[in-house]
Amino acid sequence: MTKRDYYEILGIDKNAGKSEIKKTYRKLALKYHPDKNPDKGAEEKFKGISEAYAVLYDDEKRKMYDMYGHAGIDQRYSYEDIFRGADFGDIFRGRGFDFDFGFDDIFERFFGHRMGFDRRPRARRGSDLRYDIEIGLEDAYKGLETEINVPRTEICNVCNGSGAKPGTEPKTCPHCNGAGQMRVSRRTAFGMFTQVSTCSKCNGQGTIVEELCPSCRGRGTIQKTRKIEIRIPRGVDEGAQLRLAGQGEYPGKGAKSGDLYVVIHVKDHPKFKRRGADFYQKIDISFTDAALGEKIDVETLEGNEKLKISEGTDSGEIFRLNNKGMPWLNSRGYGDMYVEVHVKTPKKLGRRTRKILEELEKELKNDERKY
Ligand SMILES: [Zn+2]
Ligand SMILES: [Zn+2]
Repeated sequence: MTKRDYYEILGIDKNAGKSEIKKTYRKLALKYHPDKNPDKGAEEKFKGISEAYAVLYDDEKRKMYDMYGHAGIDQRYSYEDIFRGADFGDIFRGRGFDFDFGFDDIFERFFGHRMGFDRRPRARRGSDLRYDIEIGLEDAYKGLETEINVPRTEICNVCNGSGAKPGTEPKTCPHCNGAGQMRVSRRTAFGMFTQVSTCSKCNGQGTIVEELCPSCRGRGTIQKTRKIEIRIPRGVDEGAQLRLAGQGEYPGKGAKSGDLYVVIHVKDHPKFKRRGADFYQKIDISFTDAALGEKIDVETLEGNEKLKISEGTDSGEIFRLNNKGMPWLNSRGYGDMYVEVHVKTPKKLGRRTRKILEELEKELKNDERKY
């Protein structure tokens, strides 16, 4: 079933402010609330507008939805997460309902039992993991393939996650008949309320293991430090993240593993400062090279390069070596290397040097007179 646009469901404009969203939802919710509206289909409608409200009223969720549509919400939030944080109590309190519309009420009542549920049930998901790695600038320049050791919870490979001793099978839980949930209904003035809770005998698994797997003692998961290969692309900068889908924590049976995020830190280079894809460095040159011009060796990440210092260079002038910076991340080409020159004045002069300089000084004064 294709899902309808949330704005369309509420009948509001894409630019609608929060107070308008709330007002519109309240109006629609009071109209379609199944306690007030016996029509067939009212409950479905109520679910739809409640979901639209929960997403659009939350700034972060609304941003994701505006950017990526339903996919942005469905991939990021479980159905529970969508409703968590939405304050329904504020909307329904004092309007003829004899209970608080907290998250639990609304979620369990209308979504917990998955009646007329129009989407696939969502798998439980493990936590994401974060791993910080420090690399040198040279590695960031060339890109790096390496292995990291990540301690995590993973599926037990002896029982394949079932928790049962190999050769035995988990049995259907007799308490909940395999449903994993217990349902208690009570009648009130406003209709039947069905409370759904997790089966305490099987912890919601629906099955009971009689002979435990010796490796994981029935948990179905084990702690392991796993070697994981990572590829750091060339051109990465400080703080860049790699996402390794499904390499995070595995919480247990029927669940999906979380993701692993590798956060990259790039060490400072002793010589080069980095700004985006460009490098900056300072070098000393002699005052004769500055005056006469010279080709000098300059260090780059690919070895020495010749830099032409032009005649009459001042201290502090900046020269550029094209394409001798970092490679651009995810695209062709390189940044540049900027070289700031610093003119060194000789400190200890020999007698002969002093003499030459004194002559030079006279000569320069002559030149000044001439021009
Ligand atoms: Zn096991
Ligand atoms: Zn059970």
